[in-house]
Amino acid sequence: MATLPAPLNAPVRTLLGPGPSDIHPRVLAAMAQPTVGHLDPEYLRVMDELQSMLREVFRTKNRMTMAISGTGSAGQEAMVLNVVEPGEAVLVCINGVFGNRLADMAGRAGGQVTKLERPWGEVFEPAEVKEALARVKPKVVAMVMAETSTGAWQPVEEIAAAAREAGAMLILDTVTALGGIPVEIDKWQVDAVYSGSQKCLGCPPGLAPISLSDRAVEKILARREKVRSWYLDVSLLASYWGSDRVYHHTAPINMTYALHEALRLVLEEGLEECFARHRRNHLALRAGLAAIGIDYATQAGHELPQLNAVRVPEGVDDVAVRKKLLERFGIEIGAGLGVFKGKVWRIGLMGYSSRESNVLVLLAALEQLLAEQGHTFSPGAAVAAANEMYRSPI
Ligand SMILES: *Cc1c(COP(=O)(O)O)cnc(C)c1O
Repeated sequence: MATLPAPLNAPVRTLLGPGPSDIHPRVLAAMAQPTVGHLDPEYLRVMDELQSMLREVFRTKNRMTMAISGTGSAGQEAMVLNVVEPGEAVLVCINGVFGNRLADMAGRAGGQVTKLERPWGEVFEPAEVKEALARVKPKVVAMVMAETSTGAWQPVEEIAAAAREAGAMLILDTVTALGGIPVEIDKWQVDAVYSGSQKCLGCPPGLAPISLSDRAVEKILARREKVRSWYLDVSLLASYWGSDRVYHHTAPINMTYALHEALRLVLEEGLEECFARHRRNHLALRAGLAAIGIDYATQAGHELPQLNAVRVPEGVDDVAVRKKLLERFGIEIGAGLGVFKGKVWRIGLMGYSSRESNVLVLLAALEQLLAEQGHTFSPGAAVAAANEMYRSPI
């Protein structure tokens, strides 16, 4: 090599997009602790603690609760590949990017996929899912609770009950939900759930928490054919996470430290308090945006507090605003995907990113940039409206 590249010098950003979100300094510090062996007694203790903390945030007693090595998509693929057997009917609810990905994965797993679709930004009604259950008679239903591409908050409880009544297993995507809004795995009797470390858990990308009900584990153990992935086969992974401690793959030790600290932070704050913080910052952002004429793209009443999908105002250059937010203020927000491309901004207030200071700085920066773009509003209105919201008790 002619010249050695300069050492890394990562800029400090404010991550207000669809993930990754800001990382708490305590999580970064945990990652920098010495790497130990993946069978070191100290590490095994960290794994045990991680499992019990995951059970708390998922609100489950499921024994099979652990973290898959990989990002949220690895957790997603693990749940689909393990739960779906080739030839089985699978019903996938699609109202955005991640529902589509579930359908793709279920097809690759050999499932006979039926797609139930809704326009982007909308949520599914229990009645239409019940009708599809009766028609398709699926063995597995897959659905996204917090659709990050549209900001839609899908109510789960009734649909989970209907799936169970119809004799189907429910796979639930909680990648963006977990740590931001209530997720009740045991109460709703969800069979297979996955999440990701880098959204509302406020940890770098790299681990995917999962949990499987006993019913789902029985189904997996009774498979006629091996899972079509060696790396993601939970029956093999269980021998490492369980008391046998059989080597499967080298665990990402320092990522486990990071998730351990991130979960400690969530539980130290308290789950309910954590949800309330996400909600409060969402309401302040929302009030601020409304004051300068920015609306939500999501079905009314189903807006996620942690992922605000809002319409780019008429006449405003989507790309220019996002570029200047990053260059001048160090703030990242997300672009629209698919049918929302160029039309929607996705403002994430996830985990450690969900802070009053971030809401206020973003609104002030948006006011400056939108004024430059010729968008008209009463100067100072966004920040004032957010402050008004913060003044009122919730
Ligand atoms: C981000 C996300 C995923 C995928 O997670 P990666 O960490 O990007 O692999 C899956 N589902 C939803 C709803 C997501 O928001």
